[in-house]
Amino acid sequence: MKRAILFSVFATLLTAAFFATRSEAQPNSVKEVVPGVWFREGDILKEGHCNNTIIEMKDYLIVIDANFPSGARAALADAQKVSKKPVKYVFDTHHHGDHAYGNAVWTKQGAITLAYAGVAEELKRYEPKRWQDTAKQRKDVGELNLSTAEPPKETFTKSPHVISDTTRRVEFHFFGWAHTHGDGFAYLPKEQVLCTGDAATNGPYNFVADGNVGNWPKVMENAQKLKVKYVLPGHGPNGGPEILEGQKQFMIELHKAAQAAVKAGTNPEDAKLPDSVKNWIGPQLKSQLKSAAEEIKQKKPAGDLPH
Ligand SMILES: [Zn+2]
Ligand SMILES: [Zn+2]
Repeated sequence: MKRAILFSVFATLLTAAFFATRSEAQPNSVKEVVPGVWFREGDILKEGHCNNTIIEMKDYLIVIDANFPSGARAALADAQKVSKKPVKYVFDTHHHGDHAYGNAVWTKQGAITLAYAGVAEELKRYEPKRWQDTAKQRKDVGELNLSTAEPPKETFTKSPHVISDTTRRVEFHFFGWAHTHGDGFAYLPKEQVLCTGDAATNGPYNFVADGNVGNWPKVMENAQKLKVKYVLPGHGPNGGPEILEGQKQFMIELHKAAQAAVKAGTNPEDAKLPDSVKNWIGPQLKSQLKSAAEEIKQKKPAGDLPH
């Protein structure tokens, strides 16, 4: 009995500590990171939204990530508050619903949805099943009355793909398979701003089932070769290059812990990760460890295994 009470006190403290470390989170806030570039922090806990970045060009705006339909509308409203220019391009960093299911909302506004070719391939791999499951659970997706996710209207295979005008250059990069086969990054070389999608998150938001845990650190290393001052992640608050390094270290530790468990024949889900990567440790840890262990046992990326 006493132990149960103690545990419950401990659990409450843990929860408090968890939210305390997230106190810098500011869902639905919009801040100008450098002149003409705004970071909108999505409400992941209540709405499941991703973050968005709004980039002002000479005559139009580029928005990073389509978000879910309700997130798309919120991001569009905020874009219209910071600039009178129309949204011309929306870049899907990857195929997940919280980044791409709002595509139809943006194209209806006249925007062109854009992605690395791997995003369209992932949609072919996983849809229409995920869309149809999500449409039953999310009102904003169901209300679109579509049978499947709208793929990006334009795709590119050569990295980087560049959009530029007299005011700014925006590069769209593919660095390899981390979170999904299609992970795209948006990079502003002059301003040293990098939008990472979910390949790098600031907090415990790494869904690894479609991913490649073993290759993830290499993708971060490729991103780290860019000159970066501002990192705008797919989820969690914005920050600097420490997000890339922390994300890399978390994947290295996850892989290491899973490998040790596989070698010792113990349950990988019981493995512990060091405190140095605690910013990325959360409720998904057990499933992340399981995916990493399967990847090691079956010698295939988690995303290529049945899931
Ligand atoms: Zn996401
Ligand atoms: Zn994702």
